[in-house]
Amino acid sequence: MMGECYMEEWIKKIREAGIVGAGGAGFPAYAKYNAHVDTFIANGAECEPLLNTDQAIMMRHPQEVVMALETVGKSMGAKNIYIAIKQKHQECIEKIDGAIKNLSASVIIYPLRDYYPAGDEFMLTYEVTRRVIPPAGIPLNVGVCVANVGTLYNAYNAIFNEEPVTYKYVTVNGEVGSPGVICVPIGTTLRDCIERVGGATLKDFSVIVGGPMMGRIYPDGKEALDLPVRKTTGGVIVLPVDHPLIFKKTIPESVAVKRARAACIQCRYCSDMCPRNLLGHQLYPHLVMRTVSNVENAADMRMTLLCSECNVCELYACPMGINPRTMNSVFKSKLREAGVRYDYSGYLLKVNDMIDYRRVPVYRLVMRLNLDRYSQDVKYYGTVEDIKSVKIMLRDGPGRTARPIVAQGDEVLKGQKIADVDDDALGVPVHASMAGTVTQITDEYITIENTGVKK
Ligand code: SF4
Ligand code: SF4
Repeated sequence: MMGECYMEEWIKKIREAGIVGAGGAGFPAYAKYNAHVDTFIANGAECEPLLNTDQAIMMRHPQEVVMALETVGKSMGAKNIYIAIKQKHQECIEKIDGAIKNLSASVIIYPLRDYYPAGDEFMLTYEVTRRVIPPAGIPLNVGVCVANVGTLYNAYNAIFNEEPVTYKYVTVNGEVGSPGVICVPIGTTLRDCIERVGGATLKDFSVIVGGPMMGRIYPDGKEALDLPVRKTTGGVIVLPVDHPLIFKKTIPESVAVKRARAACIQCRYCSDMCPRNLLGHQLYPHLVMRTVSNVENAADMRMTLLCSECNVCELYACPMGINPRTMNSVFKSKLREAGVRYDYSGYLLKVNDMIDYRRVPVYRLVMRLNLDRYSQDVKYYGTVEDIKSVKIMLRDGPGRTARPIVAQGDEVLKGQKIADVDDDALGVPVHASMAGTVTQITDEYITIENTGVKK
């Protein structure tokens, strides 16, 4: 195993490999890992229903995940190194346990109950360490680093093989021929992903990119087909256009306001079930709804900046089926536009005594979302190589957009750097995910076509 003295070297390698958080946020990994912590947690919780992406990575690459976890964790000074996996994924736990034993690694498996949002960094940190990340804070504030298992797999490839990020595991589920997890070149279109699992089974369909709770929705799924798989894409879910979840997730803001005024009964279930509120953060969605109902000074709306947009309040807790999360998002974006930040005053963070009883069981959530028919074991399709073209984004999260260093018409090899970021800027370079010819360069992406260039 590599030790602390090599930290500078592997930090450089994971930056050069273009690694960003694979779990969704896309924060450049080298910047996140360049710190000192006492606890490191690999996040294999995969709390969004219908997704099997992290499981596929742990099942197929247990040694790689454990090696990267121990290397990065130890280098950051962690005395406690965990990998958190849902208890229900016994096969996965056995694979990881086998890898830990093989490598004599100092890694502890932390079995999680099956609730949502078990993979939220705040909940996971509390679950494993009993420490509460302060409002608007990050795990580092309490001496913890949390990394998605997909990010760690990429870190392994960078540290031990000097390979950049060129592939992404993606779950494709819902109304498709045979749902499954595929490993595709970064930049593969969602159309190709859906076709690889048998295609959409409906003529008209909607698409959710990500998980059903927090993913981005495309009511007309055809509009999503040309979108590329990014370094952060974990799932693609195809649903009927008239599915209740599509209806709920596409309520216009103006309608949500009217519903808040007409139907909110101030039962405060939204606040009582809110994962951040349960951790003692002063976030009360029922007070936001009261304010929307024109009750002056009902709440300091800066609290909405604490909302993780997990959707528990809106898609699970609210008995009236109205939209507290949507209202939070509206205020939150207005405050952000105005440059308002949440300044934590240091108030006492008292975890709610009921926290263990108010977590949302995933099986009930799946039924509430009318997704039970899609909640199944999915197959693993393996790695897809024969893609005709890829559209590779120049930025996948916070930080600087990478600057193209190739020209239209250039022939590139798989893994070749095609865009870069200055050394002193936050951001990561971008690499060709397949060999081919550069056919288009815009401010946002580079397109490569498979023209038979030698791999
Ligand atoms: S749960 Fe629904 S009805 Fe109850 S306070 Fe919250 S928004 Fe209003
Ligand atoms: S979406 Fe709702 S439940 Fe989730 S953090 Fe925001 S207010 Fe709380």
